[in-house]
Amino acid sequence: MAFDAVFVGAGINSLAGAALLSKAGWSVCVLERSAELGGCIRTVPDLTAPGFTHEVLAAWHPLFTGSPAYAELKPDLDRRGVEYLNTELPTASTFPDGSTAVLSTSLEANVAELERFAAADGAAWEAMFNGFMANADLSFGVLGTELWSPAGLGLARQAVRRFGRRGMLAFAATVLVTGRDWLGETFESEAARGLLAPWVLHTGLGPDQAASGFMTQVIACALQLGGMPVPRGGGVKLVDALAGIVRDAGGELRSGAEVERVLVSGGRATAVRLATGETIPATQAVIASVTPTQLYGRLLTGGDVSEDVARAAGRYRYGRGEMQIHIAMSERPDWYGDERLAQTAIVHLTPGLDGVSRAVNEAERGLLPAEATVVCGQPCAVDPSRAPEGSWIVWIQLQELPAGRIKGDAADELDAGDGEWTEKLREAYADRIVARLGRHIRNLERATIARVALAPPDIEALNVNLVGGDIYGGSCGLDQNFLFRPLPQAPGHQTPVDGLWHIGASTHPGPGLGAGSGYLVYKELTKPALPRRLLSKVPVVGR
Ligand SMILES: Cc1cc2nc3c(=O)[nH]c(=O)nc-3n(C[C@H](O)[C@H](O)[C@H](O)COP(=O)(O)OP(=O)(O)OC[C@H]3O[C@@H](n4cnc5c(N)ncnc54)[C@H](O)[C@@H]3O)c2cc1C
Repeated sequence: MAFDAVFVGAGINSLAGAALLSKAGWSVCVLERSAELGGCIRTVPDLTAPGFTHEVLAAWHPLFTGSPAYAELKPDLDRRGVEYLNTELPTASTFPDGSTAVLSTSLEANVAELERFAAADGAAWEAMFNGFMANADLSFGVLGTELWSPAGLGLARQAVRRFGRRGMLAFAATVLVTGRDWLGETFESEAARGLLAPWVLHTGLGPDQAASGFMTQVIACALQLGGMPVPRGGGVKLVDALAGIVRDAGGELRSGAEVERVLVSGGRATAVRLATGETIPATQAVIASVTPTQLYGRLLTGGDVSEDVARAAGRYRYGRGEMQIHIAMSERPDWYGDERLAQTAIVHLTPGLDGVSRAVNEAERGLLPAEATVVCGQPCAVDPSRAPEGSWIVWIQLQELPAGRIKGDAADELDAGDGEWTEKLREAYADRIVARLGRHIRNLERATIARVALAPPDIEALNVNLVGGDIYGGSCGLDQNFLFRPLPQAPGHQTPVDGLWHIGASTHPGPGLGAGSGYLVYKELTKPALPRRLLSKVPVVGR
């Protein structure tokens, strides 16, 4: 059977794109090599202990609830029972001396919180928020537009009209600023800087990398505006609902279906071939949510694209590795210092801006960082249904690990052996992190029922797109970001092969659950043909 569109992979971009195309009347097939649909959305009941429902990988959905895909699909998702729960306290940082800084969804509360640390920091937050919002259409536009296209050019023209040519240059400079420079210029207190600096990691960057200041501002404003929503019952509810939209429209979703080749005929993608040998034809589009390494190095064959593109894809860089630790607790956590922490979705344990910078640098030099930034997620603070009454889940993310071989331990405590992750090294590193957390949560050790840790290779084993445990589908350094993602030789989503589209975290606007690339390709595929677009601009006389 032939479909209008065949998707390779069933992550958020494919599922949202497939649901939107199905609603637009396209016949759609989604093919997923793993046993489960959802990609990085992987909700596993009883992972640690009976009654505890864990998000093994991605957990937080602010990018999705703030996305145009959600805006379009919301009525269908509501009907299918997807319910987003939220919190007024999306994030906090707790520092080694036990002091804390908490960010809320209220501008007034954030001003008051930051004034605790430096009189000027409250006003600085307000000025940052208002300044960002005045040009939010452009800033969010950078992330929501196909940059390598007439629409991207339109966005640039809009900026020139607003700022003038010189002003436009100044605006562009603010996009390139590093997190360190922006935080240093904006806030006086180390606490305000330490509240925001860990968020740089969630954009795949470090605080000393170009554009990390801009991305920190985007996140800071998004946290205040959107909080930290999660679907009641877990991300699987969203996956099931999106799959339901496709199925009810007559589409097909198949797990355990590994695509090994995109078939090209006369320069056009016409079908995919599964590892079993089965061929599935696509009359309009093949849409691949894979890394450039896989797309140009495996799914296409030598002659399908130029040497130039194939070579560039071979050089595509992956970022730092990541570890997840999942803990089931029999009690709510008893945080030292600030009782607001028990109601906060994501608490960062960090020495502050310099601490994040140091840990990133150590990881990039191949070392296990001495004092990692501990991302301590608390899903039960938002959705208590995830664990038995009165108990708790801790979702820990460690985003500062070497991209490849481990050369050593910056703390000189752990033996990295031959540089490969072993079960022993994984558990020893997890012990170090949990011991640090225990200095902030009084009852952590006593109330821990069970723990599961995943090292970078375990994460890659769950999803081939997470090469080396890079959870962002490729380095987000400036030369691989924005206009240059995935490759300057094949930018945007339309590949050099007609009818073959590239989506997913490796493409603009990059990683996260925002479904941005799936949405952009859906819009492009369902755009009215040129004569109809031109006609729609002709004024109707006589009405
Ligand atoms: C540990 C972790 C925590 C994260 N936390 C968050 C978070 O809280 N919030 C947030 O917004 N983002 C988070 N992210 C990032 C976000 O989850 C990802 O960027 C996003 O989900 C990627 O979606 P995608 O559409 O690129 O597809 P993916 O989720 O990467 O899925 C792609 C799918 O394609 C399949 N596939 C690949 N090749 C083939 C093939 N040849 N044939 C068939 N199938 C194939 C894979 O098996 C996979 O299931 C996290 C990521 C990780 C790993």
